[in-house]
Amino acid sequence: MTALLLGALGLTLSLVVPGVLATARWPARAPAAAVVLWQSITLTGILCALGVVLAAPQELVGALGSGTPAGVAALLAALAVAAVIIIRLLASLAGVTHRSRTRRARHRMLVDLLDTAERHGELPDEVPAGLRVLDGPLPFAYCLPGRRPRVVLSGGALRVLDRIQVGAVIAHEQAHLRHRHDLVMESFTAFYRAVPGPLRSRAPLDAVHLLLEMVADDAARRRCGAAPLRSALAVLGDAVSPDGPAEAAGDAGEERRRRLSRLTGDDPRSAPVAAGAVAAAIALLVLPTVILVVPWLDRALSAWPL
Ligand SMILES: [Zn+2]
Repeated sequence: MTALLLGALGLTLSLVVPGVLATARWPARAPAAAVVLWQSITLTGILCALGVVLAAPQELVGALGSGTPAGVAALLAALAVAAVIIIRLLASLAGVTHRSRTRRARHRMLVDLLDTAERHGELPDEVPAGLRVLDGPLPFAYCLPGRRPRVVLSGGALRVLDRIQVGAVIAHEQAHLRHRHDLVMESFTAFYRAVPGPLRSRAPLDAVHLLLEMVADDAARRRCGAAPLRSALAVLGDAVSPDGPAEAAGDAGEERRRRLSRLTGDDPRSAPVAAGAVAAAIALLVLPTVILVVPWLDRALSAWPL
């Protein structure tokens, strides 16, 4: 029964919930809390998979009788499958992290070499130490996270944006760096790559990518106001970081439309929506534990001699 419940919860979280959450409108009102909910859904899905693998043979052993060769074989097989799941996840995380670090180090060296920031008098008075400007006609901006972070702007961006807009773009990129959004994306990318092809879904990757952009937009909006950020975004919207994982490049036009719509009118952020999302995230994480512990407690109490 425990395995059945965990299996149903795991399948619901991996096949039904992502589609519903990805198309919901409320995450735009609480993007940071929605990211926490996506993390909880992913982690709970993993816990459910491990729970099914470990609980199913235990229930089978109960039917076969403990100590029988079939029961022992079922338990050993379950432990092996659980180990494969954990090793696959850890190997994927290590691979994604290593590739990102290597690519970023090379990229950082290149932008340091090609930097022309000192030749651009149109930069705002206060620019971050790691700002680099690359000559070229295309307007773009992105950041390179890490211990020595960089914010990269193109000469084309400086030509089409005024100083206040450039300040808003820099504030947006700095929010990505400050909150280490790269680590969040890496964890989702690692999970995506670890899941076997037929079971994997891009919905969490695309949704979290957009939500992190909204979190950075909110930080820039607080510092510079919505208007300069909105007009800068309208010009730079199609520029994406060449450093990001290939899987995280969703529909750029649709992403820009949704980001622009939240920057029009009143600040859409809502504390009650955020609190509800975080509460749901915590409840989800507790659920597999309850499903495992309640039957165990039930058995333990029924075995009590009174
Ligand atoms: Zn961004």
